[in-house]
Amino acid sequence: MDPRPMAVGIDLGGSNLRAALVDDRARIITHVGQPTGADRGPDAVITDMVAMVHHVIDEWCRVTESTIRLDTVLGVGVGAPGPLSVQRGRIIRAANLPGWSDVPLRDTLSQRLGVRVELDNDGNVAALGEYWVRGSQHDLVMLTLGTGVGAGVVMDGKIVHGHYENAGELGHMIVVPDGLACNCGQRGCLEAYASASNVVRRVVEGIQSGEPSCLSEAVRRGEIIPASRVGECAADGDKLCERIWDEACKMLAIACVNIQHAFNPSIIVLGGGLGAAGSALLDRVSRHVQDQRWSLHDDFPSLERSRLGADAGVVGAAALILTSHDPNPTD
Ligand SMILES: [Zn+2]
Repeated sequence: MDPRPMAVGIDLGGSNLRAALVDDRARIITHVGQPTGADRGPDAVITDMVAMVHHVIDEWCRVTESTIRLDTVLGVGVGAPGPLSVQRGRIIRAANLPGWSDVPLRDTLSQRLGVRVELDNDGNVAALGEYWVRGSQHDLVMLTLGTGVGAGVVMDGKIVHGHYENAGELGHMIVVPDGLACNCGQRGCLEAYASASNVVRRVVEGIQSGEPSCLSEAVRRGEIIPASRVGECAADGDKLCERIWDEACKMLAIACVNIQHAFNPSIIVLGGGLGAAGSALLDRVSRHVQDQRWSLHDDFPSLERSRLGADAGVVGAAALILTSHDPNPTD
């Protein structure tokens, strides 16, 4: 019996590199991960990516005692930090990948593997993955609230790229005129208020400036604090966490209202480290949306947490290949 259509998805991050063999039902069959080691430069990392593709396929063959080969896999999708050019398949440069400047990742991988390779921005592929696992019926916008705020817009089943291929950089929409400085050089970006890293950083800075908080001891011990814990402390009445958390949720609500007006999607997904807080995030963002939104009609996108979680990168990357093969996974 022929195996189901499959593709390999690769999630190239500044810290971690993951690859997974994914079938056309969006299921991970086999996977492998390791530190990226980005400081070794593109050649060494690309060599690792080639080895990982072979590894996940070999592992599948070993487990099933089947004999699929690389050329029976439909292709390899890669999600990577931008800015990058989807059309040219090149990473132009990436803050978290030192030494990666105008790297022809797509064609290099394709030549070395002998299969079709597609490359796209990591925020875009995560959005495509979330779209895919929902049965592909909904226009969807995703915000990945992690180290930064990644984002992707999927309309009519297609990632929106824009003329200059930088559409959907919603983490850098300005939500506060002359607001907090952002790494991108602008002020008042959503990312400055609502990335997981910035939420935690702002709490730590508050503690270091003498504000009392239930996280003071943990900060003094040098513990790494997950952003979701700030949400828990806010719910428990910690004043510092409450202020920072509520501001993050309010900025996200403003962003969601703006997204509604710009794209009119049926779903907005909030993922990443902040999204892991679940209802502690979604309920409060929803409350702020009620305060912000217009009243001309009742339709508003449903706010949802990520269904794929940490797998959004590899599943979404595989979806670059599999959704162009068959847009609807079937059960
Ligand atoms: Zn910015």
